[in-house]
Amino acid sequence: MIMNIQNHTHPTSDMIEKFKTLIGDEHVITDSKDMSQYLTEWRDLYQGKASCILLPGSTQDVSHILSYAHEMNIAIVPQGGNTGLVGGQIPFESGHEVIINLSRMNSIRNIDTAGNTMTVEAGAILQNIQDAADNAERLFPLSLAAEGSCQIGGNLATNAGGVGVLAYGNARNLVLGLEVVLADGQIWNGLRALTKDNTGYNLKDLFIGSEGTLGIITTAVLKLFPKPAEQSTAFLGAQSLQDVAHLFSLASQIAGHQLTAFELLPRVGIEMVTKHIQEARDPLETPQPWYVLLEISSGQATGNASELTEKILETALENNYIHDGALALTISQAKDFWRLREAMSEVQREEGGSIKHDISVPIARIPEFIKRANDAVETMIPGSRPVPFGHYGDGNIHYNVSQPTAMDKSAFLAQWDMMAEAVHSIVLDLEGSISAEHGIGRMKKDLLKDVKSPVELDLMQSIKKTFDPKGILNPGKLI
Ligand code: FAD
Repeated sequence: MIMNIQNHTHPTSDMIEKFKTLIGDEHVITDSKDMSQYLTEWRDLYQGKASCILLPGSTQDVSHILSYAHEMNIAIVPQGGNTGLVGGQIPFESGHEVIINLSRMNSIRNIDTAGNTMTVEAGAILQNIQDAADNAERLFPLSLAAEGSCQIGGNLATNAGGVGVLAYGNARNLVLGLEVVLADGQIWNGLRALTKDNTGYNLKDLFIGSEGTLGIITTAVLKLFPKPAEQSTAFLGAQSLQDVAHLFSLASQIAGHQLTAFELLPRVGIEMVTKHIQEARDPLETPQPWYVLLEISSGQATGNASELTEKILETALENNYIHDGALALTISQAKDFWRLREAMSEVQREEGGSIKHDISVPIARIPEFIKRANDAVETMIPGSRPVPFGHYGDGNIHYNVSQPTAMDKSAFLAQWDMMAEAVHSIVLDLEGSISAEHGIGRMKKDLLKDVKSPVELDLMQSIKKTFDPKGILNPGKLI
């Protein structure tokens, strides 16, 4: 038996045969060509190796795999849609780990329109869940640009955010119950569909956001919401971030909880999208340094959402908070506005290297954060092109920096840690978080000690040891 440095077993061919007997030959991938799609992520930032990929078809399968892996001390990497941005779903380079990919467990088991809940398996694709809710005249409000391929298990394991957080909260707020397979193969059935349940420690909330380090989520009971009867979407141009801050206060005051999205986009980002995506158009006639994608929703189709949006636009124009704006008159126009926002990440790939920071600060401090971070980045690498965009309404900015046009990509990316240190020190100074929604994974593991107190780190370590004493679940990630 070959052991790696963490004392986990490098699976032998007999062990891989055993996995085949547990879940079926055809659900164990060992061919290196077939494995490759599971071993790298879309930006090619992390590439790993694995002994094999396991594709369980049921909770019992997951339980049998973990029970055996626990006995044999085999390290496991849980994987969903492989869209995570911090490398948590990719194994290390040693090749001794085994990936459990949940894709086959993708059924939507039940929709309860009286209780407004939906029970889904972990491998269900987020977009399919949204569509199923929509077909039942309900809304599942978790929404992010990767929704066509990310899975609900991955969303919950990362406590995903996205564009609906302002109105509905992040993934944690959208779950009533969970079923989880523990490190030793035991199944915890916490599939309760209760809004109120004060019976001790909330285990569900511990698993959500644990990035596959405490257990494998296999099923979830999700909350559904009334489907908005009417939505009004506007694309607004502002001269400064201070004006965006005024606009946010104004929109919150006028629309209250009906303000369901308030997304920030910079001019440089719009230029990248219109350059690289053929059908994308700048909706405004005059270029503006900053844009806001604003959405107002209403439960009734009485024109209330459009009235509120028009009132926000009028008042914002009167006060010079915005200098130009467009209201979507059709669903297709609203989709075009959203396409500009959703393409913001992918187009940065076309512009060479991009150093990414997923941060949050108190909302009132966003303008100060962006100004200070831009200054720091420009001093460090003159000509860098910051593309700060994202969920202004919940304080979460994706502070991405594209390389200077004339610089070598790898030379730029080599500065990642140095730039992250500078940006994160501004974030901490402003009492923010170095990971607002993407998690810790591999990328930010070493930073945890700088942002958590020894007390908090000790508690986290104790929790990990209790749930996974042999450390077989996603070792080397998060903690
Ligand atoms: P994976 O990437 O496969 O895994 C992510 C983590 O969860 C890993 O640590 C993995 O081990 C663990 N995991 C996966 N499934 C399970 C399971 N069943 N049980 C236990 N652990 C599991 N994220 C946001 O929060 N907000 C955004 O707005 C957003 N936008 C994005 C836009 C783009 C274009 C892309 C590519 C990504 C974006 N992300 C965003 C990041 C990513 O989509 C989310 O983190 C998503 O929740 C990951 O889901 P996944 O199924 O792909 O999980």
